[in-house]
Amino acid sequence: MSEGHLSLFYRELEAGRLTGSKCKACGEVFVPSRPLCSRCGGETETISLKGEGTVESFTVIHVPPVFLKDASPYILALVRLEEGALVMGRLIGYDPNKPEEVEIGVKVKFEALKEKHGEKEEAIVAFKP
Ligand SMILES: [Zn+2]
Repeated sequence: MSEGHLSLFYRELEAGRLTGSKCKACGEVFVPSRPLCSRCGGETETISLKGEGTVESFTVIHVPPVFLKDASPYILALVRLEEGALVMGRLIGYDPNKPEEVEIGVKVKFEALKEKHGEKEEAIVAFKP
């Protein structure tokens, strides 16, 4: 039994790398990783992603999950990666109190942001301009 796709994704994220799954049949890319393509049902393989993309939409989170209450407000963005996948991540480098400064379509780059979640520190998917 191979390592689960999701645990591999988070282990790579801890190491500062962004990975995804690419469908061997139709080429669709997914982030986070998944074992089967949601478009055609084909098998996927793990690929490394460059981590460059553009902001498609975003929202400001004022009322986050309990373990993130110290981080709020923060910006959550939907980023279209160059490889085609859509990925949700924290948008950093902007003032969450001035969301009007974020431009749709702005180029951003992936960063593994270390954040305290309760007792332990975990890496999360983040993007910065
Ligand atoms: Zn497919």
